[in-house]
Amino acid sequence: MLENKNNERTSLEKLGEFGLIDHLTQGFEIAQKSTIKGIGDDAAVLNFTDKKTVLTTDLLVEGIHFDLSYMPLKHLGYKAVMVNLSDVYAMNATATQVTVSIAVSNRFPLEALEELYAGIATACKTFGVDLVGGDTTSSKTGLIISVTALGEVEENKITYRSGAKPNDLLVVSGDLGGAYMGLQVLEREKEVFKVNPNNQPDLEPYSYIVERQLKPEARKDIVALLQQLNVQPTAMIDISDGLSSEILHLCKNSNVGCNLYEDKIPLDPTVISACEEFKVDSTMIALSGGEDYELLFTVDQSAFPKIKGNPNLSIIGHITQASEGAHLITRGETKIPLTAQGWNSFGNE
Ligand code: ADP
Ligand code: MG
Repeated sequence: MLENKNNERTSLEKLGEFGLIDHLTQGFEIAQKSTIKGIGDDAAVLNFTDKKTVLTTDLLVEGIHFDLSYMPLKHLGYKAVMVNLSDVYAMNATATQVTVSIAVSNRFPLEALEELYAGIATACKTFGVDLVGGDTTSSKTGLIISVTALGEVEENKITYRSGAKPNDLLVVSGDLGGAYMGLQVLEREKEVFKVNPNNQPDLEPYSYIVERQLKPEARKDIVALLQQLNVQPTAMIDISDGLSSEILHLCKNSNVGCNLYEDKIPLDPTVISACEEFKVDSTMIALSGGEDYELLFTVDQSAFPKIKGNPNLSIIGHITQASEGAHLITRGETKIPLTAQGWNSFGNE
């Protein structure tokens, strides 16, 4: 819908499985010194020497996690890598390798898989990770893509969800709610397109939020920034589901409570205007809209001078005793319990 598909269609059967793997993975180069052997043997061989290894995996299923009617395959490949790298960075680690496994039906021509792998290649190149393996099989219906990412980190830098303590500052990178509002715009345009296929949508006014949905960027730069500021987060998680659900994960795993201040939640102006247009509350969207892939972390209060005023970071609250619970302090200074859906507007705990 949003991109002109090129018209060439080479059927996958023509290449065979091995030809296909070779074709798709030919341009990938090895950049990490921890990669001893990448694609081409029964298993990859890695050497992380004295560092700890982190490993994470995600499965993306057509119709559940993505809709190919507005998700170009190149973006899907890129995003599939990003969501995994985001988990590696949330451990305060450096991402080093990925594997990519796909199940495809024969409704996909070779050219479609080339697009998918072009996105994977861009992600690998931009973030300096090596594609070191995967698996390829057929599917009767849709496309399934599973990515596993590996990373390395010095033992004393590993950041779990469980290390937050009372009085720590609660910090988030970037801004929130964009990916969800981008999805709302894409869904609306899809409906318009169904009624009138000649009506090409003008997405220009929404380009920031549509990009947030289609082309999320894992926050490698934030891990580097914390390193450079010499700030060791006490706990960290990436925001895949929405701010409030991630805050609750941190609080539960660290056995603490928190106060989150509504007026501190970072929102891009285009998110605010899209929320006005769609008649939804922007705080609610930041709290419960997912897929922003920002990092949420806590730091000791002594880190305040290093963090304050940094344009990439917002201090949005602080950690309390577990007995105090997790609350949103609204602009009107009302204290509302946070729930995984955003907040509990009825106020019962
Ligand atoms: P096996 O039969 O041992 O599973 P494969 O023929 O599936 O081996 O894979 C051969 C090589 O190609 C391995 O290194 C494997 O990791 C890699 N590979 C297979 N499919 C993919 C893919 N979709 N993307 C990247 N590498 C792949
Ligand atoms: Mg295999």
